[in-house]
Amino acid sequence: MFQDLDVRYDNSFRQMTPEENDTALVFQGDAVLAAQREGELVFPRYGVLSPALRAGVWRYVFSLGERPVFLGAWEGAPMPGCRFVPSREYRGMGPKEAVFAAAVGESLHRWYGSTRFCGRCGRAMEDSQTERARVCPACGLTLYPKICPAVIVAVSDGDRLLLTKYRGRAFTRYALVAGFNEIGESIEDTVRREVFEETGLRVKNLRYYKSQPWVFTDSLLMGFYCELAGSDRITIQESELSEAGWYPRAEIPGDYSPISLTGEMIERFRRG
Ligand SMILES: [Zn+2]
Repeated sequence: MFQDLDVRYDNSFRQMTPEENDTALVFQGDAVLAAQREGELVFPRYGVLSPALRAGVWRYVFSLGERPVFLGAWEGAPMPGCRFVPSREYRGMGPKEAVFAAAVGESLHRWYGSTRFCGRCGRAMEDSQTERARVCPACGLTLYPKICPAVIVAVSDGDRLLLTKYRGRAFTRYALVAGFNEIGESIEDTVRREVFEETGLRVKNLRYYKSQPWVFTDSLLMGFYCELAGSDRITIQESELSEAGWYPRAEIPGDYSPISLTGEMIERFRRG
């Protein structure tokens, strides 16, 4: 899956200043600064950045393997030999550690950008000195990085699996029922509600499988397998889905994402 890396991802909170050889994640909107290479995402070292860029705000965000990664932003032109690679493009590049770093960095970059001022009293917010948080010096409001819990649900009926296709999105492959947790709701109730809303089906025997930090949408996906309870008649929620149907194990199409929890869950069912 997306987060399964060959190097250790260490996101424990530390206060550090960047050094010459550290990795620089420089964002401009949703685009990250990288070397001009076909299909390969290579970030500059902090030491090669221009003095003006180095003079900006830099935050240590995590380490990949032994290498510290720092987050910065730049509104000017890219340095020679580099370009700003937009999110929709870098997702399809490699290596996977770099794509993961860019996606996590982009999520944090969005979060820092949207927590500049306190939503309660309007003062400028500051970084906490002890944890990854933004704190208002006037009223004390503390904000943590935005993570929205959501579910991915594989509904089976004997040898059949329920597959869906989203409506009106760039992602057109097969998917499972999915949706966000709402206030006051257990994650198990999210599973039952989302399945019912999207397909009109009832489910039983919920079994938690795995989670996946889907940082592209600031969400934490929690995967569940469950079984059909009652009628198998599907009533599609047309605002969300273009398609939903039962697929026998042997006829499950191979058209799903290889990096997503959804893809892994479909594949696991297909293999029995
Ligand atoms: Zn405040």
